[in-house]
Amino acid sequence: MAIREVLKMGNPVLRQESAIVSKEEILSDEFQQLLTDMSDTMEEQDGIGIAAPQIGVLKQVALVGIPSDNDRYPDAPEFDLLVVINPKIEVLDSALQGNWEGCLSVPGLRGFVERPSKIKVTFLDQEANEQIIEADDFIATVFQHEIDHLFGKLYIDRVTDTTKISFIDEFEHFITKDE
Ligand code: ZN
Repeated sequence: MAIREVLKMGNPVLRQESAIVSKEEILSDEFQQLLTDMSDTMEEQDGIGIAAPQIGVLKQVALVGIPSDNDRYPDAPEFDLLVVINPKIEVLDSALQGNWEGCLSVPGLRGFVERPSKIKVTFLDQEANEQIIEADDFIATVFQHEIDHLFGKLYIDRVTDTTKISFIDEFEHFITKDE
């Protein structure tokens, strides 16, 4: 178990594109250790997703998982931890939905981001098997947020109305979550 440092916005590593991971590499001990470190770090920070670039590793792998007792997003549905490698997104419904997003690399803030409401993600799992998942509502946003990290994007880039950026304390005091 190793908790890794999470890089913060401003660190240029977060702005780089990550590399595709080969099936052989996925099955290596070193890569499996990376997955454990990502999971440990996400859990320690009470996150619901983490991407490898956030711990300084420029490989196309992200974790998504929402425990039932999550404190940062108490309204979010429970979602079993999923390892997503080399993901490709196909938009199934381009109608936009908005959510107040946060990020372990942008601590203390929330911002309102609109994204397609239904997507299909094709990816490899931790055993290098191809998987396809359809996601909608909040989970679709979580997938898109994490996959953005693999291409050097942060949610802040996608906030179109900068009056909808808030510190978390003020967010909890002044802003309705389903606005
Ligand atoms: Zn993030």
